[in-house]
Amino acid sequence: MKFPVTRAAVLKPKPDPSTLIFGKTFTDHMFLMDYTAGQGWHDGRIVPYGPFQLEPSAMVFHYAQEVFEGLKAYRNPQGGVQLFRPIENARRINSSCERMCIPQIPEETFVSAVEQLVELEADWVPDQKGTSLYIRPFIIATTPSLGVHAAHDYLFCIITCPVGSYYPEGINPVKIYIENEDVRAVRGGTGYTKCGGNYAASIRAGERAEEQGYSQVLWLDGVYRKYIEEVGAMNVLFKIDGRVVTPALEGSVLPGITRKSCLELLRDWGVPVEERRITAEELFDAAESGRLEEAWGSGTAAVVSPIGELAWGDRKVIVNGGAIGETTQKLYDTLTGIQWGTLPDPHGWVVKLP
Ligand SMILES: *Cc1c(COP(=O)(O)O)cnc(C)c1O
Repeated sequence: MKFPVTRAAVLKPKPDPSTLIFGKTFTDHMFLMDYTAGQGWHDGRIVPYGPFQLEPSAMVFHYAQEVFEGLKAYRNPQGGVQLFRPIENARRINSSCERMCIPQIPEETFVSAVEQLVELEADWVPDQKGTSLYIRPFIIATTPSLGVHAAHDYLFCIITCPVGSYYPEGINPVKIYIENEDVRAVRGGTGYTKCGGNYAASIRAGERAEEQGYSQVLWLDGVYRKYIEEVGAMNVLFKIDGRVVTPALEGSVLPGITRKSCLELLRDWGVPVEERRITAEELFDAAESGRLEEAWGSGTAAVVSPIGELAWGDRKVIVNGGAIGETTQKLYDTLTGIQWGTLPDPHGWVVKLP
C-alpha cells in the first residue's frame, strides 16, 4: 500500500535538538485517513502538517471518543532510521478501538502509514545521543451529532515531533507519591486503553503531586485502594529480594510495550519475574525492612525511569540510597542499545526503514 503525498510548499527550519521541549515542535507533514460507515477506512494520504476543520458538534469534542498511540523513530549508527516494535502499537490501538467502539485499522495499514510518514520526514530524525522522532498516531470521532452513540465517521491522523534526550544531565531518580484520593481506572473501565479521557482524569492528582515536590503519582487500584497499578504514563516494576515484581495486567493497567520488553529481557537473563497484585503495604514493608532493592517506571518516553523516593501518606522511603540500581541500569543500557541500533537485536524488535 503506497499512500499519495502532497508535499509542503515551504519546509520548516530544523530545530537544535538540545533545546527541544517535548511535544512542541512538529514536522512538515502528517498522515490522514478517513473512515465512513459503509465504506470503511479510505483515502490514506500524507499532506502538509496543519489545522483540521471540524464541526463544533463533532462527537470527539463532547464524549471523547478518541484513542492514541506513542512510539519513536531512532537514528542508528549507520545513519539509517529505525522503529521499535511498531506492530505492538498497531495491536494496542486496535484493542483501544475495540473498547471505545472505534473501527479497527488493519495492522499492516497502521504500520505502513507510520513507516511512510517517517521515511518522508527522515531528515527530522535527530542524530544527537538520546534524541529521537516521537510519533503520535490518533483516531477521533468526527460525526457532527450530540447523541451518545458510536460515531459513523472517524479521522486517523499521525503527527511526528523531534524530541531531545530525556536525560540530558544523566539519569536522575524521581520522587513518586502514592495517590490516595483520585483513581485513574477500574476494572471494566478503560484503563488498559490509551484513550484521552484517562489522562484528563489524571491531571488533578498530577498537579497536586507537583505542588508537593513529587514528579508523578503512583496510582492505586480503584476498587480496594490498596494494590499498586502504575505511574502517570509509565508502568512500574520493583526488585524485591532478587525478584522483579510488577502489577499484573487485569484491565486497569496500560499494557506497556516497554514493560513487556523489560520482562522479556529479564526472563532472558534468568531473573525471576512475577506479574501479580502487590499492595502498597507489601511494597512499603519491603522497603522498610531493606528488601526493596530497586524501583523503576517503564515507558516509551523515558525508557526506564528509576524511582529514588516513594511517599505514601506519612510513610516515606528512599530506594537504593536514591541511586539507579544495577538491574534498572542494565535494562536501560540494553533497551536503548537495541532501539538506537548499537546492540544486536536478538528478538527482531527493530524495523529498519529503507
Ligand atoms: C503509554 C503508557 C504507558 C507505557 O507504554 P509504552 O508502550 O511502554 O510506552 C504506561 N502507562 C500509561 C498510562 C501509558 O499511557
